[in-house]
Amino acid sequence: MKTSIATVSLSGTLGEKLEAIANAKFDAVEIFENDLVTYNGTPADVRKACAELGLGIVTLQPFRDFEGMPLGPRERVFARAERKFDTLQELGCDLLMICSNVSPDSLGGIDRAAADLSELGERAARRGLRIAFEALAWGRHINDYRDAWEAVRRADHPAVGLVLDSFHILARKTDLGAMRAIPGDRIFLVQLADAPFLEMDYLSWSRHFRNFPGQGDLPVLDFMAALSATGYDGALSLEIFNDQFRAGSARSVAVDGHRSLRFLADQLSTRIGGLPTGMPALPPRARPVGVSFIEFAADDHDAPRLESLFAGLGFRRAGQHHSKAVTRWCQGDINLVVNREKEGFAHSFNVVHGAAVCALGLGVENAAMAFQRATLLLDQPFRQAVAPGELDIPAVRGVGGSLVYLLDRSSELGRVWEIEFSDTGETGNEAGLTTVDHVSQSMQYEEMLTWLLFYTSLLDVAKVPPQEVADPGGLVRSQVVESADGALRIVLNGSQSARTQSSRFLSELFGSGVQHIAFATDDLLKTVARLEANGVRLLPIPDNYYDDLAAKTDLSMEQIAALQEHNILYDRDGDTEYLQVYTEAFDQRFFFEIVERRGYRGYGAANAPVRLAAQATATTAALP
Ligand code: MG
Ligand code: MG
Repeated sequence: MKTSIATVSLSGTLGEKLEAIANAKFDAVEIFENDLVTYNGTPADVRKACAELGLGIVTLQPFRDFEGMPLGPRERVFARAERKFDTLQELGCDLLMICSNVSPDSLGGIDRAAADLSELGERAARRGLRIAFEALAWGRHINDYRDAWEAVRRADHPAVGLVLDSFHILARKTDLGAMRAIPGDRIFLVQLADAPFLEMDYLSWSRHFRNFPGQGDLPVLDFMAALSATGYDGALSLEIFNDQFRAGSARSVAVDGHRSLRFLADQLSTRIGGLPTGMPALPPRARPVGVSFIEFAADDHDAPRLESLFAGLGFRRAGQHHSKAVTRWCQGDINLVVNREKEGFAHSFNVVHGAAVCALGLGVENAAMAFQRATLLLDQPFRQAVAPGELDIPAVRGVGGSLVYLLDRSSELGRVWEIEFSDTGETGNEAGLTTVDHVSQSMQYEEMLTWLLFYTSLLDVAKVPPQEVADPGGLVRSQVVESADGALRIVLNGSQSARTQSSRFLSELFGSGVQHIAFATDDLLKTVARLEANGVRLLPIPDNYYDDLAAKTDLSMEQIAALQEHNILYDRDGDTEYLQVYTEAFDQRFFFEIVERRGYRGYGAANAPVRLAAQATATTAALP
């Protein structure tokens, strides 16, 4: 089974697109007509460029408004097709993709469509070419793959085959049962796309919101399961029209595309017990067991201030690295690492970003297998020189060039603190923090689907329906990925407005990264009392919030007064409750949250606008 992607999916010139596609290890491309028209060279040049990059060309597309035309226009359409065949031959490609007619001039009737396909198939065959027919979801007469198949079947010509496009089929919720009965050798091309559930016309939905399998809400896996019953073994080609992708980096979007195909094949093999040919078998998704550590890169000026904030939060300086300027801060099961080395990854990260989280250490059941899976999913491995007495912790690149380390307890990695650090024996002002509840990462809006796919393909985590949160500077989109048991929760935030907290963070940090870390406690009131005693400054919450809370909930006046006194936010879902406080931001860069979950599963979305407004106020107050 060949992997392919349509050039329309990516940004850039045709040359840039082809390079990005080859770099992402695809076998082939679909040449989108517009890319050819705007290309500064002949189709033969494109053929040469593809050959040099080792890319096959699966099809030229689309050929529009072909079938069922009345007599005069019909002749012109066939003449147009002959010219396309010329181009096809120059391209060195043998398949022209035809999508169903949307012209108001077209006449319906399966037999008429079949006759046109048959005649064009005959003309194609004379040149050693083939044609493939696709039902657009908004086709005038043919908008259902079952009708397209019937037209192809009745055309009864070996050079005429079917295109199945997951978007057109799944968007209309067409029954997949009939697909299983189509002979695989009559399917000439399969195009894959996912999309979020949206209430809009098919055309706008398709042209702007398609995304890679796994990034949207369509049952692409059901489509693949039905397809596998046909015996089809041709190209799986991604055909994605998406505004974000066309604004994004062609290289990274192409890698995402190939990652999505490998992940899809992996899910299919779990579902039906067989892997499409040519697709690598992956170790299973890594089950997260928690956040093992969070590493901050800081210079000599910032590190002491950061460490005094940690001390205020109740962490103790538990360990000192044997050979490096790296300290370990502990509380409960939480490990924070401060790296102030003058060389190596953390240092370069610090030079670019300033004081920031440069790495997340994720605990998984088997780090070596997780790393192998990551590599096979085309995640970017990271290596740096390992000194004697240090562990080689497997790592891949994460958000904003940061690292994701993979650790487990079953190998030596589980003893990293013993092996690399000496115990200081120091104590601290414990504040009752137990674990990392969630980590929130801010990123460019265009990157959100990239990191959604990164986490969900590598780890056994699921996505939660995204939320739009009101920030005083605009809307922030928030996408959670979490493991079923809550051992790992990551919140991805992105905004199209430059004035939101999320976007300001990107400019402060010179890139995407961790904007806040939430720690869990079993008793927030007690924890907050400790923090206040330790001199930690919490984000002030306006009094109006508590008036509103009194009106919205049945909390007693005493309970509300206690929350208000300590700037605690409160949310309820059924019988479950959530309490949260935020620290003031460290240099307007990142901040900490402390939460108490009383059975509550969410993230306090109802409180997010209040928090964002309070932070906007605090930011303005802090400006010189
Ligand atoms: Mg298509
Ligand atoms: Mg939070």
